[in-house]
Amino acid sequence: MELQQPSPTVNWHRQTDVVVVGYGGAGASTAITAHDAGAGVLILEKAPEGQEGGNTRVAGQGYLTPSSIDKAIAYFNALSGPYTVPEEMVRVWAEEMCRNNDWLKSLNGDPVEHHLQPEGIEFPELPGSDCAHKYHHGPVLGHEGTWKLFKSAVEQRRIEVLYATPGKELIQNRATGEIVGVRTEREGNPFNIKAKRAVVLTCGGFENNQEMIRDYLSNLPYCYPSGTPYNTGDGVKMAMAVGADLWHMNNITGPWYALKVPEFPSTFEMGPLHYRKESPGGMIAVSVDGKRFIDEKHMSAHGKVKARGQWIQAPTPCPMFMIFDHTLFSAGPLHDKDLHHSWNPILRVYDWSDDNSAELAKGWIKKADTILGLAEIIGQDPATLEDTINEWNEYCKAGRDLEFGRTKMLSPIKDAPFYAVELSPAFINTQGGPRRNAKSQIVQPNGSPIRRLYSAGELGSIYSFLYQGTGNIGECMAFGRIAGRNAAAERPWR
Ligand SMILES: Cc1cc2nc3c(=O)[nH]c(=O)nc-3n(C[C@H](O)[C@H](O)[C@H](O)COP(=O)(O)OP(=O)(O)OC[C@H]3O[C@@H](n4cnc5c(N)ncnc54)[C@H](O)[C@@H]3O)c2cc1C
Repeated sequence: MELQQPSPTVNWHRQTDVVVVGYGGAGASTAITAHDAGAGVLILEKAPEGQEGGNTRVAGQGYLTPSSIDKAIAYFNALSGPYTVPEEMVRVWAEEMCRNNDWLKSLNGDPVEHHLQPEGIEFPELPGSDCAHKYHHGPVLGHEGTWKLFKSAVEQRRIEVLYATPGKELIQNRATGEIVGVRTEREGNPFNIKAKRAVVLTCGGFENNQEMIRDYLSNLPYCYPSGTPYNTGDGVKMAMAVGADLWHMNNITGPWYALKVPEFPSTFEMGPLHYRKESPGGMIAVSVDGKRFIDEKHMSAHGKVKARGQWIQAPTPCPMFMIFDHTLFSAGPLHDKDLHHSWNPILRVYDWSDDNSAELAKGWIKKADTILGLAEIIGQDPATLEDTINEWNEYCKAGRDLEFGRTKMLSPIKDAPFYAVELSPAFINTQGGPRRNAKSQIVQPNGSPIRRLYSAGELGSIYSFLYQGTGNIGECMAFGRIAGRNAAAERPWR
């Protein structure tokens, strides 16, 4: 049966079989698969050329390939905890993830296992956890490695990417409910692209949309990403406008604590807070009340911490500050410039000074000769901050942190002048978005699919609670392939 024109009639500027909205790992996996299944494919990317790749590009580059379907089913169910994912979805998730290495090899990739077990297993206490194996492509971990393989596979196939072309709205046939195209904008002008078979949304989460963060995330008055600045929740809004149900909106990979400055959209990681890094000098983090709130050197399970035997989101009593002394200030750059992941180091948006002097001059780091003076500058009660520091220094002398059991960098804050950096809650992604089914179709609240509309990746990710590292890119590959196969198999409507 031939489809009626959407009403009112659309002025089409381009057409293809499958339109993929967003050029990160999920978009690339979808596009490659749909192309190899014989469909014409066009990728729309909001970022200008050179800034594509999304979080995938600046990720650690690991992807998960479980070693057993049955164990993966057990592990994925346990990760979901009380926020269950339908049985059929968990099975497909496990089966398809187990094929990730084979698929990567089919792209001439070279799967290399890193963080060998047991270190790579995030939740070893959960059933099936020993199935978790983390891989990346190529000889080095990070440095855009796996992304570069995806990108070269897209380029080898001559799949066209329209840069600086954000998807704005899905075009729906009002009579049938089918999605028949995407309204975009190019150089400020409307540009409508007809999708004869399907549209696949792979345009990431809402990490840069503070209104959605306040609306959907708990205990976070604000939060900033370490990844791409271009993921602003557009896919969530586009899907909602055509009747999509939502899921996992409150789940994030985070939070942790980083510096956010107005000049840059993405955060700067603070080296002294990293659980693996040891620096000379004293450092603690305090909350709005001038007291410590966490073991500053804790190793978080992607933002979840254990409290009384339960995994909970790490606390974020904003505003928070890292307080430290002159020995730490003088020990080298506070921001690790050699990180092999995250937006700021990979895109080289800013060259942090080796002696932190430029950042002090900019006011990103505050300084005072005394603790009391520092407290005044950062708007804290001087007596409380002084008490907190004295207490910390006592713990260091005794060799035991009686409050939070911290075991690393047990050094007193003693050498003047003293410094503070305001810490913001930070995350790598949001996991929520339109609910999808086992075919990667976006579904309505009644569970029926919105016809010719698919999704993959962190937009409406399958992760509902706990997150096993490398699971997101693994999911991009798995559900990207499912979406690509099914989108290419749709019968063209015209
Ligand atoms: C620092 C960091 C480290 C990480 N490390 C890992 C890791 O090692 N392993 C792992 O599995 N996960 C990791 N993650 C998470 C993982 O990178 C992401 O969840 C995953 O890559 C998301 O892929 P995606 O394709 O869904 O979205 P993205 O890769 O973010 O791509 C989305 C794309 O859509 C574009 N876009 C946005 N809006 C529109 C629009 N309206 N129209 C068109 N295009 C649009 C964006 O510009 C972007 O290019 C990390 C993330 C970060 C930030």
